[in-house]
Amino acid sequence: MDIRIGNGYDVHALAPGLPMWLGGVQIPSENGFVAHSDGDVAIHALCDALLGALALGDIGHLFPDTDPAWKGVDSKLLLAKVVERVHSQGFAVSNVDITIALQRPKLAPHIEAMREALAPILGIAPQRVSLKATTTERLGFVGRGEGCEVWATCLLINPSHHE
Ligand code: MG
Repeated sequence: MDIRIGNGYDVHALAPGLPMWLGGVQIPSENGFVAHSDGDVAIHALCDALLGALALGDIGHLFPDTDPAWKGVDSKLLLAKVVERVHSQGFAVSNVDITIALQRPKLAPHIEAMREALAPILGIAPQRVSLKATTTERLGFVGRGEGCEVWATCLLINPSHHE
Protein backbone atom coordinates (compact mmCIF):
# COMPACT_ATOMS: atom_id res chain seq x y z
CA MET A 1 0.00 0.00 0.00
CA ASP A 2 1.21 3.51 -0.85
CA ILE A 3 -0.16 6.40 1.21
CA ARG A 4 0.51 10.04 0.28
CA ILE A 5 -0.32 13.27 2.07
CA GLY A 6 -0.70 16.64 0.36
CA ASN A 7 -1.31 20.22 1.40
CA GLY A 8 -2.47 23.23 -0.55
CA TYR A 9 -2.88 26.95 0.10
CA ASP A 10 -4.55 29.74 -1.85
CA VAL A 11 -5.64 33.34 -1.42
CA HIS A 12 -8.05 35.39 -3.50
CA ALA A 13 -8.88 39.07 -3.17
CA LEU A 14 -12.48 40.20 -2.65
CA ALA A 15 -14.18 42.87 -4.73
CA PRO A 16 -17.74 44.18 -4.75
CA GLY A 17 -20.27 43.03 -7.33
CA LEU A 18 -18.65 39.68 -8.16
CA PRO A 19 -20.25 36.29 -7.53
CA MET A 20 -18.77 34.38 -4.58
CA TRP A 21 -18.05 30.75 -5.43
CA LEU A 22 -16.58 28.75 -2.57
CA GLY A 23 -16.34 24.98 -2.07
CA GLY A 24 -18.27 24.42 -5.28
CA VAL A 25 -21.35 26.42 -4.28
CA GLN A 26 -22.42 30.03 -4.76
CA ILE A 27 -22.60 31.99 -1.50
CA PRO A 28 -24.94 35.00 -1.26
CA SER A 29 -22.59 37.94 -0.69
CA GLU A 30 -22.10 41.54 -1.83
CA ASN A 31 -18.45 40.63 -2.56
CA GLY A 32 -16.89 37.97 -4.75
CA PHE A 33 -13.41 36.76 -5.66
CA VAL A 34 -11.18 38.46 -8.21
CA ALA A 35 -9.87 35.68 -10.45
CA HIS A 36 -9.30 34.38 -13.96
CA SER A 37 -11.52 31.36 -13.18
CA ASP A 38 -14.72 31.49 -11.10
CA GLY A 39 -12.39 32.27 -8.16
CA ASP A 40 -13.27 29.28 -6.00
CA VAL A 41 -10.28 29.62 -3.70
CA ALA A 42 -11.28 26.54 -1.63
CA ILE A 43 -11.25 24.28 -4.69
CA HIS A 44 -7.94 25.80 -5.81
CA ALA A 45 -6.29 24.98 -2.46
CA LEU A 46 -7.80 21.48 -2.63
CA CYS A 47 -6.44 20.96 -6.17
CA ASP A 48 -2.98 21.97 -4.95
CA ALA A 49 -3.23 19.50 -2.05
CA LEU A 50 -4.14 16.65 -4.43
CA LEU A 51 -1.39 17.60 -6.88
CA GLY A 52 1.07 18.07 -4.02
CA ALA A 53 0.44 14.57 -2.66
CA LEU A 54 1.74 13.14 -5.95
CA ALA A 55 4.34 15.87 -6.59
CA LEU A 56 2.55 16.87 -9.79
CA GLY A 57 3.18 20.59 -9.50
CA ASP A 58 0.38 23.08 -8.89
CA ILE A 59 -2.87 24.31 -10.33
CA GLY A 60 -1.29 27.45 -11.82
CA HIS A 61 1.09 25.24 -13.79
CA LEU A 62 -1.70 22.93 -14.99
CA PHE A 63 -4.27 25.63 -15.79
CA PRO A 64 -2.32 28.88 -16.46
CA ASP A 65 -4.29 32.11 -16.00
CA THR A 66 -2.82 33.28 -19.30
CA ASP A 67 -4.84 30.55 -21.09
CA PRO A 68 -8.24 31.85 -22.27
CA ALA A 69 -9.57 28.27 -22.01
CA TRP A 70 -9.78 28.72 -18.22
CA LYS A 71 -11.36 32.18 -18.23
CA GLY A 72 -14.39 32.14 -15.91
CA VAL A 73 -14.17 28.34 -15.73
CA ASP A 74 -16.17 26.45 -13.11
CA SER A 75 -13.45 25.33 -10.69
CA LYS A 76 -15.34 22.04 -10.17
CA LEU A 77 -14.18 21.18 -13.69
CA LEU A 78 -10.55 21.88 -12.72
CA LEU A 79 -10.99 19.67 -9.63
CA ALA A 80 -12.44 16.87 -11.77
CA LYS A 81 -9.40 17.06 -14.06
CA VAL A 82 -7.03 16.89 -11.08
CA VAL A 83 -8.91 13.92 -9.58
CA GLU A 84 -8.66 12.23 -13.00
CA ARG A 85 -4.86 12.54 -12.73
CA VAL A 86 -4.89 11.11 -9.21
CA HIS A 87 -6.97 8.12 -10.36
CA SER A 88 -4.81 7.60 -13.45
CA GLN A 89 -1.83 7.04 -11.12
CA GLY A 90 -3.75 4.33 -9.28
CA PHE A 91 -4.56 6.46 -6.25
CA ALA A 92 -7.93 7.10 -4.63
CA VAL A 93 -8.76 9.97 -2.32
CA SER A 94 -9.20 8.81 1.27
CA ASN A 95 -10.25 12.10 2.85
CA VAL A 96 -9.78 15.85 2.60
CA ASP A 97 -9.77 18.56 5.27
CA ILE A 98 -10.19 22.21 4.32
CA THR A 99 -10.01 25.36 6.46
CA ILE A 100 -11.41 28.60 5.07
CA ALA A 101 -10.54 31.95 6.67
CA LEU A 102 -13.10 34.60 5.71
CA GLN A 103 -14.42 37.50 7.77
CA ARG A 104 -17.88 37.53 6.20
CA PRO A 105 -20.38 36.29 5.25
CA LYS A 106 -20.70 33.50 7.80
CA LEU A 107 -20.13 30.18 6.02
CA ALA A 108 -21.70 27.81 8.56
CA PRO A 109 -25.05 27.62 6.69
CA HIS A 110 -23.22 26.55 3.49
CA ILE A 111 -20.78 23.93 4.82
CA GLU A 112 -23.06 20.94 4.19
CA ALA A 113 -23.78 22.06 0.62
CA MET A 114 -20.02 22.37 0.00
CA ARG A 115 -19.40 18.83 1.29
CA GLU A 116 -22.19 17.51 -0.94
CA ALA A 117 -20.80 19.40 -3.95
CA LEU A 118 -17.18 18.26 -3.55
CA ALA A 119 -17.65 14.63 -2.45
CA PRO A 120 -18.89 13.19 -5.78
CA ILE A 121 -16.08 14.92 -7.69
CA LEU A 122 -13.55 13.44 -5.26
CA GLY A 123 -15.21 10.02 -5.53
CA ILE A 124 -15.77 9.77 -1.76
CA ALA A 125 -18.65 10.08 0.70
CA PRO A 126 -19.42 13.54 2.14
CA GLN A 127 -18.40 12.13 5.55
CA ARG A 128 -14.82 12.11 4.22
CA VAL A 129 -14.96 15.76 3.17
CA SER A 130 -14.24 18.11 6.06
CA LEU A 131 -14.77 21.85 5.65
CA LYS A 132 -14.18 24.31 8.45
CA ALA A 133 -14.64 28.07 8.40
CA THR A 134 -13.13 30.68 10.67
CA THR A 135 -12.85 34.43 10.83
CA THR A 136 -9.52 35.98 11.82
CA GLU A 137 -11.05 38.15 14.56
CA ARG A 138 -10.83 41.17 12.24
CA LEU A 139 -7.01 40.83 12.06
CA GLY A 140 -4.97 41.00 8.85
CA PHE A 141 -6.19 41.18 5.26
CA VAL A 142 -8.84 38.53 5.90
CA GLY A 143 -10.10 40.38 8.94
CA ARG A 144 -10.30 43.64 6.98
CA GLY A 145 -12.49 41.86 4.41
CA GLU A 146 -9.91 42.22 1.64
CA GLY A 147 -9.60 38.52 0.83
CA CYS A 148 -10.04 34.88 1.70
CA GLU A 149 -7.39 32.37 2.69
CA VAL A 150 -7.74 28.57 2.41
CA TRP A 151 -5.64 25.62 3.58
CA ALA A 152 -6.37 22.11 2.32
CA THR A 153 -4.98 18.71 3.28
CA CYS A 154 -5.65 15.40 1.58
CA LEU A 155 -4.72 11.76 1.97
CA LEU A 156 -4.38 9.51 -1.08
CA ILE A 157 -4.17 5.72 -1.08
CA ASN A 158 -2.94 3.32 -3.71
CA PRO A 159 -3.68 -0.21 -2.48
CA SER A 160 -1.31 -1.99 -4.87
CA HIS A 161 1.60 0.36 -5.41
CA HIS A 162 5.00 -0.41 -3.83
CA GLU A 163 7.42 1.96 -5.58
MG1 MG B 1 -6.55 30.54 -7.05
